Amino acid sequence: MEDITTDNAYFRLVRMTMRLCMYPLVFVSVFLSFLLFNLSCKKENIEPKIVDSATVSPTTNTTNTTNPTITSTTNTNTTNTNTINPTITPTINPSTVTQTVVTTTTNVSIVTKYPLSVNSTNRVASIVVPSSTFAYWNANYYGGFTGNWDSVKVISNIVYQRFKDEFDFIFIITNNQTKPSSQPYGVNFAIQNKVQGIGKSIFNNAASYGSSGKLLSFMWLPWKYGIGGVTSNGGFYPGGPTLHELCHNWANHLPVGIFKTIDDTNPNLPEKNANDGHWGISDVGGQLGGFASSSFQSNVDGDPLKYHGHIGSSLGFGLNANGGNSVPYAPLELYMMGLISKADVPPIRTFSGINANVSASTIISAFGNGNFWATTMRTYSIDELIQASGIGQRVPDFTASQKEYRTLVLVITPSVLTTDEWTVYDDQVSSFFKKGDDGVSSIYNFWEATGGRGWVKADDLNLIMK
Ligand SMILES: [Zn+2]
Repeated sequence: MEDITTDNAYFRLVRMTMRLCMYPLVFVSVFLSFLLFNLSCKKENIEPKIVDSATVSPTTNTTNTTNPTITSTTNTNTTNTNTINPTITPTINPSTVTQTVVTTTTNVSIVTKYPLSVNSTNRVASIVVPSSTFAYWNANYYGGFTGNWDSVKVISNIVYQRFKDEFDFIFIITNNQTKPSSQPYGVNFAIQNKVQGIGKSIFNNAASYGSSGKLLSFMWLPWKYGIGGVTSNGGFYPGGPTLHELCHNWANHLPVGIFKTIDDTNPNLPEKNANDGHWGISDVGGQLGGFASSSFQSNVDGDPLKYHGHIGSSLGFGLNANGGNSVPYAPLELYMMGLISKADVPPIRTFSGINANVSASTIISAFGNGNFWATTMRTYSIDELIQASGIGQRVPDFTASQKEYRTLVLVITPSVLTTDEWTVYDDQVSSFFKKGDDGVSSIYNFWEATGGRGWVKADDLNLIMK
């Protein structure tokens, strides 16, 4: 019998403890962190945008839970040490945010006031903004972007004054030593989609942001170490959700009903549709959650409704993400990205009736070990998935798709970046966007995560400046 009172109290304790992120998290078991970390991506009400508040590994290094800041270039943690509560619900309702930065009508004058610099390696750009503007980005959920995302337009107009229309992506990074507690780990703002067969409508808002038609999306990472990569002296930043946000350009945009997850905003953890861009309880097992199909077990403990799945070295798996840049893209993700054929996508197991027979507290304790219950398991071949979702064939398919992209990595900062800060960014950019192995096996750059099939170019900024 479920004890609602106890569950409520337990949840309050967990959330309060994690919210006070500098407190030792000894009160919270690893499996609770695991579950809550991955249950917490929030569906946004402004399309097309995907916000990720839970893209960091649930297999958190528990020996360093009170220091979420990566300060050493020799840090060799294999997972992101940031254990700041990803379940924090934004305290500012996006719909009530008052836009106070600037409006688009004042962009022109603002543009001339914000200097843009590019570093000597031509891999990183930075804009110095007034401290009030920087504070606004930090204080307001997803930068305080309103429906027309004026604060992004301010930035984009500066970019296109200085650069030709060559960027597929623009990564905006706010120069914070640690992630503001109220912010998600990453956001993908879709600007354009021209790919059929991924469940996403065809649209193009590039002109509103100063692009003549090239720009596909903005991605925002609200702290200094979000990209991830190998440092120039052998250490590495675990990083992420860089791979995750990039994946959101193509996935998961399947219609609701196929992939199921659990609503962690309700103590009873009711089942819901995984319609916030992630794979939920399934064996997709990639950057957007799910477990590895190779780990699948049924009839766990002799219970015909009990299953198991995990990914990599984790005990379990995430509903929304799987540990920052520590796992590569899953075959279904690579298909949606146009990088592999349908024939290379194995059948996908999906589950429903996830909490029909057990209490929320039982789910929590089991899920940390990758165990879950479901009354129904349904397996889809890729053709069946296409048929059932009604998305149609991917056009262009992997033989004709775009496989190389260009990005701008742009740091927003209230004061000119120091030499050390430029180095931190340059190390991450040169490694994560390298067309080749980054030299560290426990993290993946984009090229590695795609199995060498795709590349995002970030350097040679000098060649495309106006
Ligand atoms: Zn996401």
